[in-house]
This record gives sequence, structure tokens and C-alpha cells, in this order.
Amino acid sequence: MGCYCRLCGRERANEKFSGKGHSVHVCKDCWNLPPPRKERIEREEEILGFLRQSRISAKNRKRLAVLSEHADAELRHLAELVLRVSKISEGKRKRWRKVSAIDPELYQECLKQYLPDYPEDFEWDGGFRPGQGSALSKAVAEL
Ligand SMILES: [Zn+2]
Repeated sequence: MGCYCRLCGRERANEKFSGKGHSVHVCKDCWNLPPPRKERIEREEEILGFLRQSRISAKNRKRLAVLSEHADAELRHLAELVLRVSKISEGKRKRWRKVSAIDPELYQECLKQYLPDYPEDFEWDGGFRPGQGSALSKAVAEL
């Protein structure tokens, strides 16, 4: 029986958690990351979390607007994309279908950031497969 780390998303053995880390569900490896890196993963998780909600509320969009001015350029870009997506489709249902129909360019950009789930009709060019990993898991793979 282990514990789930909310930063790296891994299910890890209890001894991989310190007392304090355990209570906030962050494993020792992630706990010891330099703060900017931790901040980045946390903010990224926050942004991606909005996409998993059934609806992105007005309050969420306000938060995304704040994050789209973040000092980190990649976070800014990610927040901007999700904000634009939320303006096309607040709701999760058929979101990517709507985005691809209304703003194909935005959709392509989101695919590059691995935001949409892997769509059935997406023609895979042999590169990294969208939906196979979130931007977060990509960041963790680089640790
Ligand atoms: Zn971890």
C-alpha cells in the first residue's frame, strides 16, 4: 500500500514520503525539487486541472487570466491556451471537437502541448502521441 504523489503523479511506497510531505501528498523526490521547479509543476497541474473539471467557471477563468501573466513563459502560454479553450467551451463535453471546428489553429497548438485527449481521427505522424502524456508527465520525465 503506497501513497499517490500529486506532483509526479506516481503511486509510491510510504517510505518515499516524509511526514510533512505525506500530509500534502508530495513524495520526497518532489519535495526536494528546487522551488521554481516545484512552483512550475504545481501551477501546471493547476492549469491542467481546469481542463479535467466538467466546467471551467468564471472564477477559474479569472485565475487563468492571472496565470497568463506568470513570469514563466511556458506557464503563461499554457494558461493562455486553456483560457482561450474555456472561452470556446466552458464545458468538458465535446470540448475538443468544438475547439477544432471553431479555432483549428488553437486546436493544433493544444495538441502540441498534449492538452486534448488523443482524438480518434487524429493522424499520428510517428512523433510523440498527443494524449499519451500530459505536459506535466513530460516535465516529470525530465527530472
Ligand atoms: Zn513525487
